[in-house]
Amino acid sequence: MQHTLLTLFATALACCAMDLVPMPKKYAETPVVINIKNISFAGDTALPQYGIAVEELKKVLPAQDQGQPGTVIRIAVTPGAPGVPQQAQAYAIAMAPGEIAVSGHDAIGALYGAMTLRQMLLQATGSFRAAEIADWPDFQVRSGMSYNWTGRGLSNDLEAGAKEAIDLMLHFKLNTITNYRPSSFRTGDTVDEALVDTLGRINDYAIQRGFYPMYVCNAVAVYDKENYPYPKDVSIANWQCVLSGRSRLCCWSEDAALDRKIATESALCARANIRIAIFHCVDSGGARAPENWLNRCDRCKARWKDDERHLATSENLTRWHNAFKAKIPGVITGSPINPYHGGMLDGVPGLPPEQFELNVRGFWDKVNRALPPEFGFWTWSMTPEQARNYRSFLGPRRNIFVSDNFVDPSGLFSAHHRLAKSVFLPDAPLQMMWISSGNDMRLGNLHSMILDSEYTWTAQAPGSADFDGGTYYDPLTDHTEPKEIFTTWLPRMCRLLYGKELGAAAARILALGIMPTYLANPEMQVLQWNKTRQDPFVTAGLGENQLKTSNRKAAINDSQELLLLQIDLCQQAWRMVKEEMLPKLETAEPKARKYAVMLCQNIPVWKTVAEQRYAMRAGNALLAAAKYPEAVAVLSQALQVFDANVQDMTLTLKPHQSRPAFSNKQWTMPKLSALRQELDLALSSARITLSPRRFGPQVKIGVLKGFGAQGSIDYLAQFSNVTAELISDINLQTLDKYDCVFLMGSKAPSIPVDGFHLNVGRYVREGGGGVLIEHVLCGTERFSPGSSPFPELVQCAPKRVDIWDKKLNFKGQEVEQMYVDFFQLQPGPHGEIIAESQGRPVVVQGSAGHGRVIFNGSVSLLGSPAGHSWEETVLQGFNAQLAEYAIQY
Ligand SMILES: [Zn+2]
Repeated sequence: MQHTLLTLFATALACCAMDLVPMPKKYAETPVVINIKNISFAGDTALPQYGIAVEELKKVLPAQDQGQPGTVIRIAVTPGAPGVPQQAQAYAIAMAPGEIAVSGHDAIGALYGAMTLRQMLLQATGSFRAAEIADWPDFQVRSGMSYNWTGRGLSNDLEAGAKEAIDLMLHFKLNTITNYRPSSFRTGDTVDEALVDTLGRINDYAIQRGFYPMYVCNAVAVYDKENYPYPKDVSIANWQCVLSGRSRLCCWSEDAALDRKIATESALCARANIRIAIFHCVDSGGARAPENWLNRCDRCKARWKDDERHLATSENLTRWHNAFKAKIPGVITGSPINPYHGGMLDGVPGLPPEQFELNVRGFWDKVNRALPPEFGFWTWSMTPEQARNYRSFLGPRRNIFVSDNFVDPSGLFSAHHRLAKSVFLPDAPLQMMWISSGNDMRLGNLHSMILDSEYTWTAQAPGSADFDGGTYYDPLTDHTEPKEIFTTWLPRMCRLLYGKELGAAAARILALGIMPTYLANPEMQVLQWNKTRQDPFVTAGLGENQLKTSNRKAAINDSQELLLLQIDLCQQAWRMVKEEMLPKLETAEPKARKYAVMLCQNIPVWKTVAEQRYAMRAGNALLAAAKYPEAVAVLSQALQVFDANVQDMTLTLKPHQSRPAFSNKQWTMPKLSALRQELDLALSSARITLSPRRFGPQVKIGVLKGFGAQGSIDYLAQFSNVTAELISDINLQTLDKYDCVFLMGSKAPSIPVDGFHLNVGRYVREGGGGVLIEHVLCGTERFSPGSSPFPELVQCAPKRVDIWDKKLNFKGQEVEQMYVDFFQLQPGPHGEIIAESQGRPVVVQGSAGHGRVIFNGSVSLLGSPAGHSWEETVLQGFNAQLAEYAIQY
């Protein structure tokens, strides 16, 4: 059977003159020619899907002429008719002179048949070669967009944008809207009745087009900050049971609150027309301490023994399932039952056998037997062998949901969806749900999402491949390979989406391998890539190394060559935009045109960013080597290029300014003004010569705005010989005005890393200044992973540590710091530790060149022991002592 299928498929590819996506499983052209200049419609006119199909087909018909020989398009549901596959969502198309018969196994199958016909009509001018078609999907549910991004980029109006997005996805037989949550129904913590009604209409529109609107909520969390506010006397600090994430309060025995939540959510989901409901378990602990079960409250302990987590889980999930079934009879339910990954059946490295049985295999086995038979298990992607084991373990009747590994692809278009095949089992009942995740659920990634439709429709489609258990997505290859996708499929899909003319250019741009998220922040992106190459499931939050099958890939080196290649690709793309896309925008269908306009608007930005990044690195390397005149030359040149780029972009795009575009929420880029400032900053530093300073009677302190900046200034105000003021940049001119500078951390520092290292370095070494460097700026992952401006004193701060009692040892005295955590410093060879917590360095000092440096891994914000909340206040305790010490030092 499988052999025949593949042969048919290959034949179809060889002879098919039509662009079709996803490619039908059976497609054979016949010598008959079908005239489409005089079309009429007939069939099951009472079906909503008949109306939808006719409306969609009419939009793509050529000019009609009553004098031409007529052709009837007959759209009907005829299960069991000869030639119609006996599968859900299946259809057949038969053609003869004067008639095209689209026959669905069910109503959605008939609609899908019409969508295939729509693609054929799109490409025909007055007639086309007839074909015999029979087709069905491998996966019942085949990915789609996340609710969060539903149509928001297509229109400012939620409902109008969502319906446009649904139409676009229907054209390629995609069929989910994912990620509805309790918060989707609320504004603040109150149910938004009008919003629920709007979602109900959007989802009803989607359901008529074959979609499964999908909802997820935490099934054990009884209170959370957003939707189910903590009661007055309840806080994170006094919660007796477990937490999910940082703020969801969970308990298996808080019956009244749980029942209330289940009743409310099931009623909301019924009104909003949800069709898949996922009930999430407590999201922590991995296979070693699943759900933090051993830390549950006394009531939970009285009800279930330590080895009875399966009973609590089964009871909880069955409750949710029953309530939803009662209100939405057709709903499909499921859960990513902790610890999530089906591949763990192979064993979890380092986990003793009895723990493995209790937490993983035996647990799943008992839950599997206790749950209603149709309730689904959710797993992340697996190798084919893991998928077979998982299926035979769960039994053939069990629904299985699969999502990829929360991939956030860096490129414009990514081929990793070809791995969907790995979890498809051809001989199992067709109860498979494939849900893409991460960034690919964003509608801005429409092109990758459509590729998902190809491989979930036909798992074995050309270019498909097996997941090997290693890195699921590879930025080095997935944006340009394999050729089946990039040279055959992508042009085909783009012709369908954008029309013949614009499609060819769009496909070539998408196939170049441009990586916008790499350009946005090369260092951070490379770090992220290498994390997943080290541990393939790290992005899925599985916890480190919990799977046996993990083919790790070699780390990627961030190099100037990588940037140079991106510059070249962006330059090519910008030429294509100018010559081939902008002049042809009118030829595209209006919804798709919004995507084409988005590409045209973004590419010159990416090109400018790429060129700036390259020049900055070259300039900074010269600055670091104290080659100031050479740095001035490189950076002035770069500034000119930058300004020319911005002018070119502005002038070129001006005539297209008023075109509706998909709004640019997909790729977060640094602001161009900030990039120009970086160049300016480096250039002005290159032009400055510093000489060591002498302290006067009045000490001048600059405090960089950030965590604790105001508190420091307020504290220093009490000293008559000190003036302290806020500064907002780290230009050398600015730093040079002060005897000492406090560099405060912040949530997401916006200062350039290289500029920080160079300017602060020169200010201290050459200018003889003093600095206090705090918190994230000490070489943490959040700012400059693995590096600092004074590596001889502190190399980096690799780890964040919670100290709920706030106790430190500072110069032999026990003191109390203001906040509840700190970044543990890794001292360099000349760093002297002056404060620590249980042997972990918190403060390190030392001299560099003519100046002095203190690194402080803690933060000058007042924290409360109840959690990670904080407030800004005048410095106190250890942090106040350190500020005073830093000035004297
Ligand atoms: Zn409890």
